[in-house]
Amino acid sequence: MNQFRTGKFEKSSLRWPLKSLCPDQAVHSLSDILPATVAESGYKLILLDVDNTLVPWREEVFPEETVAWINEIKAKGIQLCIISNTKHPDRLTRLSEILGVPFVRGKFKPSTEMFKQAMSKYAASPSETLMIGDQIFTDILGANRSGIETIWVRPLHKNEFFGTRYLSRNAEKLVRTGIYSVLEEDDDLPIVPHTGLFQRRVVRQFLKFCIVGGSSFVIDYSIRSGLMKYTTWHGEKMSVALGRSLIDRFPILFSHVTEPAKASFYLAALVAGIIAMANSFYWNRKWTFGIHGQAERSEQIKRFFVLSVCVLILNALVSGTLNNIIPGPRSQLFATLIATGIGAVCNFIGQRLWAFRKVTL
Ligand SMILES: [Mg+2]
Repeated sequence: MNQFRTGKFEKSSLRWPLKSLCPDQAVHSLSDILPATVAESGYKLILLDVDNTLVPWREEVFPEETVAWINEIKAKGIQLCIISNTKHPDRLTRLSEILGVPFVRGKFKPSTEMFKQAMSKYAASPSETLMIGDQIFTDILGANRSGIETIWVRPLHKNEFFGTRYLSRNAEKLVRTGIYSVLEEDDDLPIVPHTGLFQRRVVRQFLKFCIVGGSSFVIDYSIRSGLMKYTTWHGEKMSVALGRSLIDRFPILFSHVTEPAKASFYLAALVAGIIAMANSFYWNRKWTFGIHGQAERSEQIKRFFVLSVCVLILNALVSGTLNNIIPGPRSQLFATLIATGIGAVCNFIGQRLWAFRKVTL
C-alpha cells in the first residue's frame, strides 16, 4: 500500500509542510528520465545526489545504466554536478573522477547552501536547474527550499546509513500518504513519455531475456541430445542402458514409458537444465536486468535457484510427458520446444518481479 509509486505530483493543491516535501516527479530509475526531454525542458544544470541515486550506498561501482545515462546527458550539453555532504571526501573524489562529473561538498541537506553554491558555479538560475535524489527530507526538501524542480528516484538499494534507514525512510512513509494524494500516477510506466515501443524498459528486458533464453535453449538441447544419442555405455547407448535400469528399479514410476531410452530422458533433461540455468543467471543478471556488483547477489542466487528449480521441474514434467504423448522421431524436439516456451514465460515473470526485482521500500 505504501510502496514507491511513480508519476507527476500536482503540488499546487498541497499546503505546507507537505508542499515543501513533495517532489515534482517520481521515477523508478535514472534511465526513466529521457535526456532529450530534459534538454527540451530548458534545464542547463542537473544536481545529483550520490548514495542510492547514482551508486549503491558505500559502493564505488556504478550501475551500467547510470553511466550510460550520465553520458547521454553530457552529450546533450547539460551541466552535471554532484552535491554531497559526505564525511568521506576521498570516496566522493573517486566517484566524481570515475563519472567525470564535478562535485560541490558542503553543508548538510536540506540546507540550501550547496544548491546555491552549485547554481552560482554554473551560472544557472533555479528555473534552469533540476535536482535528482532519493531522499525526501534532504534532496527534495533542500531543492524545494532553493526553488529548484525535483525528480525523486527510487533508492538503488535497501542498504543505507542507520539513520536514513530507520528514521528518514519511516518518516518518508508518513509523508507519502499525503503526497500520493496528488500523484498523477504512471501505472508503472516511466514518467517521461517514451517515443517507441522498444524504448520501454520491460520490452527491452524481454527481448534480452529471449536472446539469453535462446542461448540457454541451444545449450540445453545440445546436452540432452549428446546424452541421449552420442553417449555410450559398454557398447550401447547410455540412454538405453540407463532407461532399462530405471524401468527395472522403478516400474511404477515409468509404467507409461514406451521404450527404455525415454525413461532416461527425464534425467538428461535435468542435467541439461542445470547447466542452462547457470547460463541464464549470469547473462540475465548482468545484461537483461543490468545488475552489477556484489549487492544482493547471494539473495538473488537463492531466489533464482528456487524459481529455476520450480521451472525445471515443470519443464521436466511437461517435456517428459509430451515426449511420450507426441508420436514420431521428432517427439523429443517438439516436447523440448513446448516445455521451454512454457518455462520461459514463467521464468521472465518470476525473474522480473521476484528474483531480480528492484528494492521496494
Ligand atoms: Mg541518497
